[in-house]
Amino acid sequence: MSKSITIVMPDDMHLHLRHSDMLDFVLRDTVKQFARAIIMPNLSVPIINTKLAVAYRDSILNSLGKIRGDLRCFEPLMTLYLTDTTTTDEILMAKESGVVFAVKLYPNSATTNSHAGVVDLFKNCSKVLDTLQRIKMPLLIHAEVSDHRVDIFDRESVYIDKVIIPLREKFPELKIVIEHVSTKEGVDYVYSSPEYTAATITPQHMLYNRNIIFSGGLRPHYYCLPILKSELHREYLVKAATSGDKRFFLGTDSAPHDVKSKENNCGCAGCYSSYNAISLYMKIFEDVGCISNLEKFASFHGADFYNLPRNKQTLTIYRNENIVPDKISFKNLNIVPLAYGETLQWSI
Ligand SMILES: [Zn+2]
Repeated sequence: MSKSITIVMPDDMHLHLRHSDMLDFVLRDTVKQFARAIIMPNLSVPIINTKLAVAYRDSILNSLGKIRGDLRCFEPLMTLYLTDTTTTDEILMAKESGVVFAVKLYPNSATTNSHAGVVDLFKNCSKVLDTLQRIKMPLLIHAEVSDHRVDIFDRESVYIDKVIIPLREKFPELKIVIEHVSTKEGVDYVYSSPEYTAATITPQHMLYNRNIIFSGGLRPHYYCLPILKSELHREYLVKAATSGDKRFFLGTDSAPHDVKSKENNCGCAGCYSSYNAISLYMKIFEDVGCISNLEKFASFHGADFYNLPRNKQTLTIYRNENIVPDKISFKNLNIVPLAYGETLQWSI
C-alpha cells in the first residue's frame, strides 16, 4: 500500500470565493491544493462586466498577498455573470482583458444569488452565444430549470432537454461546461456530445446520495444545488469521473455559508469542500481502485478544455488517517466542512 502519491498540482474549475473575511478564509484552504481556480461570479453584487471582474480579481490578489511564502503563486481565473442585457462588446472586452476565461449562465432564480440570471437565453443572448462560440470562450451552465413546478430532482434532466439540446443545435461548436453535473441524464448527454462539451463533478455528488440529507434528522449541511440525487446517479457520476474520460474534470462547487445561514428556517444551499477537497476526491478514486486516474481528472482535463498550459508544480498527498472537524472558525465566521465528523485516509 503506497504511503504517498505525487500528482501535477490540480485546478478547481468551479469555486465560490465570496468576498471580505470569507474570501480570506476560503483562499487559505484553496491555495494549499490548487494552482488555479475558475472563480464564480455570483456575489451579492454579481460580476456582470469586465471592470467588476478586474476589481474582484484585485481583491483576490490582495487577499493572496496576506498568505505567506510560495502558496502565493495561485492564479484566479475570472468569469462573467451572463445577464439578459450582456453585450457582445462586453464579451470581447472580457477576452481582451486576459483575466476572464469563461461566462457563467445562471437560469434566473435557480440558486444562490441568481436573481440577475438569464430569463430568456435564446431571445436575449443569441448574439453573445455566437460571439462566445467564435472566440472559443466556454459557457459554464448551471443546468437546472428554475420552474418550481418541476420536481427538484428532475430539474437537471429537464434542462438538458429544454435548453442544452436546442442550444447545441444552434451553436454546434460552442464550448459548454455542464457545471456540477448530478444525474445520469447529464452524464449521458456529455457522453453523446462532441468535443465541445464537458462537465465538472463535485465531491458531494459522488460521496453521498440524497438519503444523507434526511439520515436521523434533517441535515442542512448536505443541502446543495443541484440537490443530491439517488444512488443510481451517484454511482454513474463516480464511474464517469474515475474513467479517465477527458470530458469530466474537477470542480468542487465549494460554496461556504456561515453556520447561521445554513441552520436556519430557510437555509442556504451549498457545501464547503475547499477545506479538504483533494482528500475527498482521493477517497472517491481509491474506493473504486482508480487512483491512477485522479491526476487526469484533477490536473489535466480541465486545463486542456480551457486551453491552458498544464501546471508545472506538483502536490503530494499522504496516507494519513484524519478526522474532519465539525466546524472551522475564522474571525466571526463558523463553517461546517463537507464530511464533518468522518474519518479520511489521506491528507496533503
Ligand atoms: Zn456553484
